[in-house]
This record gives sequence, structure tokens and C-alpha cells, in this order.
Amino acid sequence: MIIKGTIVSSGYACGNAFLLSEENVNINKNKININDVDVEISNFLKTHKKTIKQFKKIQSNLLDEDKKLLFDGYIILLEDENFINNVIKLIKNNFISAEYSIDKVIKNQIKIISKVNNSYIKERVNDFLDIGKRLIYNLKNIDIFDYNFLDKKENIIIVAKDISPTQIIQFNLNKIIGFITELGSITSHTSIIAKSLELPGCIKVKNITKLIRNNDYIVIDSFKGNIYINPNKNIIDKFKKKNKIYLHRKEQLLKLSKLSGETLDGYRIKLFANIGSDKDIENVLKNGAEGIGLYRTEFLFMNRNSFPSEEEQFLSYKKIVEFMNGKIVTIRTLDLGGDKFLPYMNFPKEESPFLGWRSIRIYVNNKKILHDQLKAILRSSVYGNVRIMFPMIISLEEVNFLKKEFNKVKSELKKKKINFNKNIQIGAMIETPAAAMISKFLANELDFFSIGTNDLTQYTLAVDRNNTMVSYLYETLSPSVLRLIKYSIDAIHKKNKKVGMCGELASDDKSTILLLGLGLDELSMSSNFIPKIKYNIRNSLLLDAKKLVYDVLKADKVKKIKSLLKKNNLKIL
Ligand code: PEP
Ligand code: MG
Repeated sequence: MIIKGTIVSSGYACGNAFLLSEENVNINKNKININDVDVEISNFLKTHKKTIKQFKKIQSNLLDEDKKLLFDGYIILLEDENFINNVIKLIKNNFISAEYSIDKVIKNQIKIISKVNNSYIKERVNDFLDIGKRLIYNLKNIDIFDYNFLDKKENIIIVAKDISPTQIIQFNLNKIIGFITELGSITSHTSIIAKSLELPGCIKVKNITKLIRNNDYIVIDSFKGNIYINPNKNIIDKFKKKNKIYLHRKEQLLKLSKLSGETLDGYRIKLFANIGSDKDIENVLKNGAEGIGLYRTEFLFMNRNSFPSEEEQFLSYKKIVEFMNGKIVTIRTLDLGGDKFLPYMNFPKEESPFLGWRSIRIYVNNKKILHDQLKAILRSSVYGNVRIMFPMIISLEEVNFLKKEFNKVKSELKKKKINFNKNIQIGAMIETPAAAMISKFLANELDFFSIGTNDLTQYTLAVDRNNTMVSYLYETLSPSVLRLIKYSIDAIHKKNKKVGMCGELASDDKSTILLLGLGLDELSMSSNFIPKIKYNIRNSLLLDAKKLVYDVLKADKVKKIKSLLKKNNLKIL
């Protein structure tokens, strides 16, 4: 059987399915026999012990100290004596099964904490749900995603309703070679991480968790978005061969890493890398990045229980800056809200979080967060070539506010005689239509820009980038978005400032020629895409690219634009 999915990252995967299941477990709500009370209690206690052991095992497999802390919280909740006693009491007094008793105690706990007017405590709801699920799954001996299981398996393809960023960063890539989900979107952070991990995958595959069973043999062709379930040997062999050729070509492309991104007629465009943490930097130079065009610092703040101190941030930035050894490192200030939250920070429940308390808007009443980060970045600036980039700008007033705070921080460091690069560049992302339309004014105040097509698309088209229901409308190549991009580039260039692109469009190899023609100064992407994009650039003519832009800007529909790109596409992989 072949099923279609939406492509997240390129590649092939051949292996066995593992359902990261959200199976609807039927809880036995019948009264139990008085003689079974002791058995149920003993089953509960055994499961309780096993579950703690599992959490400890997962924890010990994690390399990142911050992620380990998450599991400390789980273990504390599980070891709470009240919790254990309440489950046992219910079994004894109400003659109900251990699973029903656990379910009741967890639901009761959730009811209590849901009423508390504190979003940190409310966040614990998910922890309780997770713990309850794991206890019940263990009681019923249902497989659950964990490293115990994975230790015994190879070539696993994860199949799930959805995968969270927290789950995907736990994936052991020696074991997991691909993934398929029912939900998701191509610009969600899970997809962005999958791309940077070079993990082949498809999303938005209807009913996939019902169509695939554990251990089914799966082939993912994530160039075409095809998923083969239990295919015959010929198909398996064909894709194994294709994968070999693909990996070999990838190796070949890596040889371009020392060469520049220059067209056949001598036009140079810089190729930068997007990173989410210092773990990504090894690949950055290997893939031939000339600098870091976007460091998403949010991930440094996630998966922990408190804000990283200025010192912690400084050490983290310094490590990256030193590693890049004089090459540009663009550090984006914290871009929270929307879909990125911190468990230790109060976020209000909002009707439209992407239009609400997000990104730099959070700094207005939380200046310490901004100040600490700016200080840490400034301190790291003496170790290399650092630029600071602000996200989500919509007005000049915001830029004025940020510059004022920036000057305060600089004065404070000067007073304390702490060194930093006095000429450090500050820039902004063009990721709202508002910023695009006033890019001419912004260019009077800032040194450089980077177009964030992920948000620019969502805000131009009024389509939530994470909402599967409207994802068919999410189209970066629509005439409206492309016009805003062109308008910004021209306005910024008129002021002699540089403008790059760091949204996902930058890594779309079908659009490379278009992006060349638009005149961008740099393209920044997950570093594993750089060799392929470089190949495209090195085999193109700026002349053709300019002609393509001319035609594309005349096209009034996405379909026409895509067909123009297809005609100009270079076939390499
Ligand atoms: C963007 O919006 O295009 C971008 C690069 O930022 P993020 O994906 O982190 O929102
Ligand atoms: Mg963005």
C-alpha cells in the first residue's frame, strides 16, 4: 500500500514501524472481587516501581543536563506518598481495578491544579497526564516509546499522531531513521528540528496511526512524499539502492564545502547556517557555512526549570562564537510566545497567541530578560564576529525602544569596564508585513536584516503556521509574500544595508534561482542543506535568475509561480 504525506525533510528510510501510540486504552471500570484487592495493589506497586525505573533510564540516556531536570519533576510527582496512598485507598475502599484507581487519582489531581490561577502549576497538567498514561500502559503491558525498547531495535520509523519538539530532541539517531505523523506543519519547530537532524519524514498523513501497526515494514520516500507499507522485496531493494546513491551524492556535494556560493557569471551570495544550540555547530563548518545567519536562542531557555543566568548564556554564546573563529554569528534575541513557552514563566491564556504576547513584546514588561541576554551577547562579542538580531518587529517605535535598552546595557558594561565590541551590528528580522512595508525606515536605524519567511507567510496570509486545518493555505511562494520580499530587499538595498533570508524558503532548492535573482545578500538555513543549495548556485546564471524574477513577479497565482520555478529547476538529486 502507498500513502501520500507532506514532505518535511529529504531522504529515504527503510525500517520497521514503531507506533508512538496514543492508543485509546480501555480502562476496566468494573468492580473487582474482594479477593483481587491485594493482587491489584501489588500490581500497582510493581508498575509504580517499573515506571520510576523507566523514567530514570530515559533520564540517564539524556546527555543534556537541562532535559534531565524534566524527568526529576516526573519522578518527584510519582514518588509522592499521597499519590501512592490515594491509589491504594481507592482500590481497597471502592473495589476498583488499579488502572481505574490510577485514572481517578490523576484526574482528580488535574481537576485541582486546573483551578489554580498560576500558569506554571497549570503546566503540570501535562506532567500528570504523562505519568498516568505511562502507569496505565505499563500495567497493561502496552509498548511505550522509551529507550528500553529502542535498545533492542534497529532502523526504527516512528509513527505518531504528532511529535513534540521535546520528543524529537530525545530521538536516538542511531536507532531512529525516519518518522511519519498525522498532524504537524512544515514550519513547526518539530519539522525544523527534523530537517536539521536530516531525519526523513512525512507529516499530515491521515489516519496513519490506524493504517500502520507496530513492526510493519515501512519505506519512506521523502522526496516524493510516498510511504510504502509492507512493500514487496523489489520495492525495498529499489529504495535501499536509491538511498545508497543519495548518500553517495551527498558525500560528493560536501566536496563543495570549501568553494563559495558563486554563480557561473560570478555573482556571490553568502551561505549561512541556522542553529538552535551549540550541538548544531559541528555540522556548520563541515557543510561549508560561511557564518551563522540565525541562532534561535529560545532552545537555550527551554527544557529547564529556570532562566539561564547571564553567565550561563555568556558561556554558551562564547562557545559558539569561538568555534566560528571570526566568522559571523547572528544571535537572535529570545523569541518566545506563539508556540514556544517556558514552564517557569507565566504566559497568559490568549485567544490568538501568535498575534499576542510574543517575542520582543514580552521584553516590555520583562526588561531583565532582555538586559541579561544583551549583556551576555555583548560579552561574547570580543571572542569573534557577533551580530544581534531582533525578531517580530512591526514598528520604528519598537526599534527605538530596543535601541534605548541596548544603550543602557552598553553603558552599564562600560561603567563596569567589561569589554565588548563597540561596533557590534544590530539588525532585525523582516517577518511581519508591517516590517516589510516600513523596511525603508527600519534601514535608517539598523545595520542588517534577515527575512523570516515562516512568520512572514503566516502573517501575510493570516494562516496560523501550526494549524493543520488551514495548512493548505500556507504558501510562501504566493504572489503576496514574494512581493513583500522583493519590496523589502529593494528598499533595504537602496539604503545600502544588507538583507538575507533565514526562513525555510532559503533551503528550498526549487527556489534557489528565484532567491538569487531577488538579490539577497545571504541565505541562511539548516547547515545540511548548504551543499545542495551551493551546487544550485554554482550551476546558475544571475542573468537567468533575473529573468525568472521578472516572470514570477508578473504571475498572479501560486500555481503559475511554481510552474515557472519547475521550468528553471536544476535536477541534481
Ligand atoms: C521565520 O519566522 O521565518 C524564522 C526564521 O523564525 P522562526 O521560524 O524561529 O519563527
Ligand atoms: Mg519567526
